[in-house]
Amino acid sequence: MTVLVLGGAGYIGSHAVDRLVQKGYDVAVVDNLVTGHRAAVNKQARFYEGDVRDQKFLNDVFDKEDIEGVIHFAAFSVVPESMEKPLKYFDNNTAGMVSLLEVMNKHNVKRIVFSSTAATYGEPKQIPIKETDPQIPTNPYGESKLMMEKIMHWSDQAYGIKFVALRYFNVAGAKEDGSIGEDHHPETHLVPIILQVAAGERKELSIFGDDYPTKDGTNVRDYVHVVDLADAHILALEYLKAGHDSNAFNLGSSTGFSNKEMLEAARKVTGKEIPAKMAPRRAGDPSTLIAASDKAREVLNWQPQFDNVEDIIRTAWNWKQTHPQGYNDRETK
Ligand code: NAD
Ligand code: UDP
Repeated sequence: MTVLVLGGAGYIGSHAVDRLVQKGYDVAVVDNLVTGHRAAVNKQARFYEGDVRDQKFLNDVFDKEDIEGVIHFAAFSVVPESMEKPLKYFDNNTAGMVSLLEVMNKHNVKRIVFSSTAATYGEPKQIPIKETDPQIPTNPYGESKLMMEKIMHWSDQAYGIKFVALRYFNVAGAKEDGSIGEDHHPETHLVPIILQVAAGERKELSIFGDDYPTKDGTNVRDYVHVVDLADAHILALEYLKAGHDSNAFNLGSSTGFSNKEMLEAARKVTGKEIPAKMAPRRAGDPSTLIAASDKAREVLNWQPQFDNVEDIIRTAWNWKQTHPQGYNDRETK
């Protein structure tokens, strides 16, 4: 039996594929390479280039493969872009989910593990955020993901397709050996941008806002290592295979770091000065996002290996230093 990973050429998906292969799973990947990289996909996984919304293509893949469950990473995920182009997000993310579930149902595949996000909660009423807290997104990206969760809920009711929604907080880091890592164009996430400055590719870091009601005025976020995150997907798949009901889990460390603290940690890890300046707030940024993630630890038996941000940054820096141009495949896309 095969695990089908949609979006397996992307940052998080490629680490999940790698972990699945390491743990002995048979893996197939679907990706249209819109933001992903062919070179990021573990060579032991079969690769199908195509779009989740292309049902003919997807039906062919499901005909060829004997699929026991899918892990669905394929989506757009840049918050500011979603504010300007909401329909792009509802089309790729939300309509993509409808397409996928239709094909799954047709082929009697009844398990899906899904990349959800802290952005589905919007501005939290309480910290840490629990899975049962209200989900009121403040941007179209978060809304598109919440709609995907709801579509899975009703598909479970109607067709018995069981799902686990994993609501990630801030994902960072890279595989320890530096062979795969984060390579987005343009890059918008804090850790890789800080490391671009450390590597001399950017002049300085702009810290978006220092007047938030936090310890030092900058936003506070909860960071989780990408390999720990990948492992949670495998546990979620096994949870569904064991016959458990659909569920949702936060994935975070339950510890918050401010943007200034992240900068200081990166200075320590890299030994570089990393020039930074204060800049205006970025639209749509909640002040503080910290996960209550005891549910994933208790129910899935998730045991993250990386428990401090310096270790997370160190692995991202290792990837950056060994791959200064990332996968270096921009011209071919
Ligand atoms: P990514 O852009 O690196 O990966 C997404 C992958 O999906 C890419 O390889 C892309 O080519 C592919 N893809 C996109 N649309 C597709 C389509 N229609 N058909 C086929 N393939 C398609 O993003 P990532 O950072 O790895 O994030 C993966 C998932 O995790 C996303 O769903 C994102 O919403 C979610 N997420 C990410 C973060 C984070 O911090 N990176 C946080 C919360 C949630
Ligand atoms: N951030 C920043 N400068 C940058 C990129 C990000 O100050 O160049 C801040 C951003 O405003 C947020 C935090 O870093 O407070 C994390 O942002 P990121 O985009 O990495 O993740 P998000 O929390 O938006 O999912």
